[in-house]
Amino acid sequence: MPKYEVIIIGGGPAGLTAGLYTSRAGLKSLLVESRILGGQIVNATLVENYPGFPEGISGAELGSLMHQQAVRYGLEVATAEVTGITTGQPHSVSTTEGSFEAAAIIIAAGSEYRKLGVLGEERLSGHGVSYCATCDGFFFRNKEVAVIGGGNTAITDALELSRHTKKVYVIHRRDQLRAGQVLQERAFAHPKLEFIWNTVVEEVLGDRLLEGLELRNVKTGQQSNLKVDGVFVAVGLMPNSKQFFKILELDDAGYIVTDEMMATSAPGIFAAGDIRRNSARQVATAVGDGVTAAMSAFRYLQESG
Ligand code: NAP
Repeated sequence: MPKYEVIIIGGGPAGLTAGLYTSRAGLKSLLVESRILGGQIVNATLVENYPGFPEGISGAELGSLMHQQAVRYGLEVATAEVTGITTGQPHSVSTTEGSFEAAAIIIAAGSEYRKLGVLGEERLSGHGVSYCATCDGFFFRNKEVAVIGGGNTAITDALELSRHTKKVYVIHRRDQLRAGQVLQERAFAHPKLEFIWNTVVEEVLGDRLLEGLELRNVKTGQQSNLKVDGVFVAVGLMPNSKQFFKILELDDAGYIVTDEMMATSAPGIFAAGDIRRNSARQVATAVGDGVTAAMSAFRYLQESG
């Protein structure tokens, strides 16, 4: 079985930064990622709040630069899906491309969009159903769209979509938004936004292309149809932690519990970025977590000999 000092699971900003630090510190390091390197930021047209880029930078370019910088110092990258970890000394990581051993592991597998789980959603995904307003908003120029959710993402998406579209319905399951006050005020004052309260989506309608939504008012039980050309689902994120629940402490929402040094409940296993509890879910904080996790792994390897 190939042996490493550190295995990093996940190739977003947290994982790539951890890999940069461990490989630059001279540790034999492998990063395992099943999809494109860069993580969720590759979908962002422009990242404006990552320090050092005053004009902003495209997420794809930022991810690519982080990858280039990490491999320059010897980080190895495997394209495979992690199926599980067996703790021990060393730990072993099983993947779809075989198993690997390492004394320390850094989990930076991120999170993914939560789905509504209703009829038609999966079938029409990419055909009118989207989870990324920044990526797909442009396709709905002068059309009518709906955003589902009441959090910061939903309201940011609705405001962004209002720049391209004719009308944006915001459909929320309660009668109060979860989003911050400033965003709420902006949204309520916007002439293109219309709020549909206390309402959930029962079905996404359409054959090959989305045609509308079947809605249900949760207070009155009344059902209705809403004709829209696109729907943006913004009902939160889910951590990619299901492979780890047997070996690590997770919180009720499935996020990995760590201390401030990114140590998890298992010795020699660290977590960084969106997958850990209380992450601020920003590129800059993911990068910071990656640094801390790499330094903790380095110290753990020194102390455990
Ligand atoms: P979130 O804060 O968890 O909000 C999810 C929203 O979706 C909530 O309004 C929730 O309703 C609703 N929801 C959840 N499951 C649902 C379901 N099955 N059906 C219908 N509605 C459902 O998620 P988020 O908005 O993606 O934000 C994630 C994190 O990123 C937050 O910490 C947020 O502050 C941060 N963020 C910040 C900014 C910013 O500062 N500009 C922008 C984006 C994200 P309830 O309210 O009833 O629970």
